[in-house]
Amino acid sequence: MNVLVINAGSSSLKYQLLNMENESVMASGLVERIGDAKGVLTHKKMNGADEEKTVIERAIPNHKEGLHLVVDLITDPEKGVIKDKKEIYAIGHRVVQGGEQFNTSIRIDESIKQAIRDNNPLAPLHNPANLVGIEVAEELFPGTPNVAVFDTEFHQTMPPKAFLYGLPYEYYKELRIRRYGFHGTSHKYVAKKAASVIGKKLEDVNVITVHLGNGCSMAAVKKGKCIDTSMGMTPLAGVMMGTRSGDFDPAIIPYLVKHKGMNVHDLDDVFNKKSGLKGICGLNDMRDIHAKVEQGDEMARLALDMFVYRVKKYIGAYTAALGTLDIVAFTAGIGENDDIARKEICEDMEGLGILFDADKNKGRFASPQAIHKDGSKVQVWVIPTNEELQIAQDTVSTLS
Ligand code: AMP
Repeated sequence: MNVLVINAGSSSLKYQLLNMENESVMASGLVERIGDAKGVLTHKKMNGADEEKTVIERAIPNHKEGLHLVVDLITDPEKGVIKDKKEIYAIGHRVVQGGEQFNTSIRIDESIKQAIRDNNPLAPLHNPANLVGIEVAEELFPGTPNVAVFDTEFHQTMPPKAFLYGLPYEYYKELRIRRYGFHGTSHKYVAKKAASVIGKKLEDVNVITVHLGNGCSMAAVKKGKCIDTSMGMTPLAGVMMGTRSGDFDPAIIPYLVKHKGMNVHDLDDVFNKKSGLKGICGLNDMRDIHAKVEQGDEMARLALDMFVYRVKKYIGAYTAALGTLDIVAFTAGIGENDDIARKEICEDMEGLGILFDADKNKGRFASPQAIHKDGSKVQVWVIPTNEELQIAQDTVSTLS
């Protein structure tokens, strides 16, 4: 049973074809710069552990053309991985914003597309692009079921006390202003995996999932249900990120308008693209920041300190929210690869029951790795995320 996973952006289309019998990746790739004079398709066919890479550079005027090229590659008589596109059982689509309508993945029909469209105002950069991906897939794969898997669905179990803001209640009712949370497929996958690697059921443990990549978010998962998460109505809130601010006092907004003459677009641009690590030290990639710290750069050191401090604070807050904590699970680009950040976050947390093991922590991990000392009340793990596999699993379970 093969499942195609599609994550469509405004000018890109990421895909992965999985064999769900053994949950292995058959092929994956990325179509970029759709609509530009020169587009790029980078396709990888998996041969066991080896990758066979194909790069196509040419104008790719729209998503349909992009997906057409992908279909040609995966069904190519010599280079392909399947003979016919009919061998694809279903297509799973990452959809960013499911609002309050969707607390689970769902088979797509016209009414579901309309519901996704209704959420466009809440995710104006993402949902319209996700819809294009869905419509193109419907056109190129007639008769094949499409399933929407929402970034927000895992967080829909949050209670009102966690998802509401201290704003006039009618803003929630009229404008749907509330915390939704994002990276849901990652938090779900990582929480499940963390429970399974320690031989427990997810329903029997409390987990804090720490997704630290380009975007960073954390979730408090109590007995399998998300009870709080750090991102908000948009992916700007929470911990500090590469270029996004994370939490700050909203009164700063009118202050900036008054003193810097900034408008809505300027503010949006600064908070999303020029803040976070970049806003402090000019760099947003953790690898570059570590290199600067090594050279004694004080602003890079400050940026790293701020990043670490904020993650620590959320671990403390979520421990309190959960009541008891069993596992902290790190994931994504920084979480999986950055032993310095993990060490600085987990050090001096004995009071919360975390006995961190700096030796076990050393390195980058492509499979689950314990990084706590024997006898630690709270287990700390690196759990590589796999959002595509989670989307494919949810696609299969939705249809069965
Ligand atoms: P992601 O969004 O999950 O792909 O994560 C991307 C981020 O991971 C990059 O911006 C880097 O800051 C970080 N990253 C990737 N590899 C490393 C590494 N070896 N050490 C530190 N940070 C890394």
